[in-house]
Amino acid sequence: MVTMTSVNKHYGALHVLRDVNLTIGAGEVVVVIGPSGSGKSTLCRTINRLETIDTGTITLDGKPLPAEGKALANLRSEVGMVFQSFNLFAHKTILENVTLGPIKVRKLKREAAEKEAIALLERVGVATQKDKYPAQLSGGQQQRVAIARALAMKPKVILFDEPTSALDPEMVNEVLEVMTSLAKEGMTMVVVTHEMGFARKAADRVVFMADGQIVEEAEPNAFFTNPSSERARDFLSKIL
Ligand code: ATP
Ligand code: MG
Repeated sequence: MVTMTSVNKHYGALHVLRDVNLTIGAGEVVVVIGPSGSGKSTLCRTINRLETIDTGTITLDGKPLPAEGKALANLRSEVGMVFQSFNLFAHKTILENVTLGPIKVRKLKREAAEKEAIALLERVGVATQKDKYPAQLSGGQQQRVAIARALAMKPKVILFDEPTSALDPEMVNEVLEVMTSLAKEGMTMVVVTHEMGFARKAADRVVFMADGQIVEEAEPNAFFTNPSSERARDFLSKIL
């Protein structure tokens, strides 16, 4: 589904992605972990071209990512993204937040878009909030709306960048439960998170990054019980 080959990226003198090779198969759930500043967010952002790369290639379904125009707009709908800070449109209702993309990009009629949106809001458990504005919802509810909004574009893959890090602790699980059910339903997902319980339960693979490199990749059980690199052992000893 997504293939990154020898990807390098710099911010000025800082080499933030170093020769990254990563393949994400259809239906796979890949959890990315690693210390702050290791390049996890940058890695995610290159997959929907919110960031460009210097060298290497990234393909989606075998085709290189488009650089501009309509093809780039299409890419952004095929590669959904859920951020730490919800990023809902503050002046639009919950329902409008979810219907906007499908109406604009997928060219759905309002009625059809609303029908789909309500079904998605039901799926994430916030349909009763549909006429409210984002600020009237809890953080956990807003993040579930953000997931519904991403799903409304019928993406091939969804990137989650620390989706629960800004939430009060009691709201973390309601968001992780939605993500776990998506994972079980076969959604292709890349998830940057510190929630190791989610990684153990839902990930097909854990990718450990440090200093812009993928240091280690393994199936979660193997990774958590027996990490092969010193860096990963050190990281795990600090967070577990
Ligand atoms: P965190 O766990 O703190 O979110 P991260 O692994 O997501 O960290 P990135 O945000 O990808 O790390 O950042 C990797 C490195 O690139 C960091 O040193 C960061 O300061 C730097 N960086 C990120 N974005 C930019 C930017 N737009 N311009 C310059 N440097 C940047
Ligand atoms: Mg980050």
